[in-house]
Amino acid sequence: LMQLFRPLDMLGWVYRSIRQGLIDMEAMFDLTDTPAEVVDVASAPALTVGDGHVRFEEVAFGYEPERIILKGVTLDVPAGTSMAVVGPSGAGKSTLARLLYRFYDPTAGRITIDGQDIAKVQQSSLRSAIGIVPQDTVLFNDTIGYNIGYGREGAGQPEIEGAARGAAIDTFIAALPQGYESMVGERGLKLSGGEKQRVAIARTLLKDPPILILDEATSALDSRTEEAIQSTLNAAARGRTTIIIAHRLSTIVGADQIVVLDAGRVAERGTHAELLAKGGLYAELWARQAAERELEEVVEG
Ligand code: ATP
Repeated sequence: LMQLFRPLDMLGWVYRSIRQGLIDMEAMFDLTDTPAEVVDVASAPALTVGDGHVRFEEVAFGYEPERIILKGVTLDVPAGTSMAVVGPSGAGKSTLARLLYRFYDPTAGRITIDGQDIAKVQQSSLRSAIGIVPQDTVLFNDTIGYNIGYGREGAGQPEIEGAARGAAIDTFIAALPQGYESMVGERGLKLSGGEKQRVAIARTLLKDPPILILDEATSALDSRTEEAIQSTLNAAARGRTTIIIAHRLSTIVGADQIVVLDAGRVAERGTHAELLAKGGLYAELWARQAAERELEEVVEG
């Protein structure tokens, strides 16, 4: 009878491993809805990242052929600078991030990193060069230490603690009865949106990628938490090429360039001051959000 069970046991293990793998994928690649099959070309070389210059050249894309979402988008993000993408809901902001991470390939145009077409390099090398802080971080049902250490295989406790400090979540962890060994996730401690985001920032600090994608949460955090998170995000972005998918304009005032996407096209680009002076779509969005902020402040007291 045991002989019958052993293969079953083995099958169970394989099943669990695959399932965990899928969960890990979902957790890390939280930007996805249903990732399409993107395959490496035969003997694709690894991406050689210099300082992380990102370019979108006339990129067109639709999830379905009959509905084009991006209609020839050209972007240039010089190494080590930040670009914020703003615009109405559904404009295609998150889609840009999904293309850069290569969940999908553009239907026309190309995306390059340091001059190399990302569709022609090994996906694993591309993905190890990019860190993502997603809108909603999925936590594993494991310890908080594991959840941070996940950012880099083989990371030791001192590195995990360093990343936690960088993400300003170290004092929170130190105050837990079991510290880094505390269980989180569905069966453990429930973390707030802000705390989860800090775990994601800590993971990314451990990964230490040259390129960073920040997908800002749509759900508003209270303004004090928001400010605190913002300063840790700014610290994480320093020295990296950073693309911020922004919903609140107040968080991206200092970006090196701001791109306003509207219905899949670049409608405006410039710095905050330039765009305000222009009096176009950005200035309109800014005025609307400023009015909303004032209202929130009255409500929050
Ligand atoms: P928001 O500010 O609301 O997050 P966004 O500008 O980031 O919006 P995207 O998420 O890029 O917008 O979506 C652009 C369009 O693509 C939307 O109309 C959306 O419905 C569509 N879309 C997004 N993901 C998919 C998908 N997996 N399959 C089909 N259509 C999709």
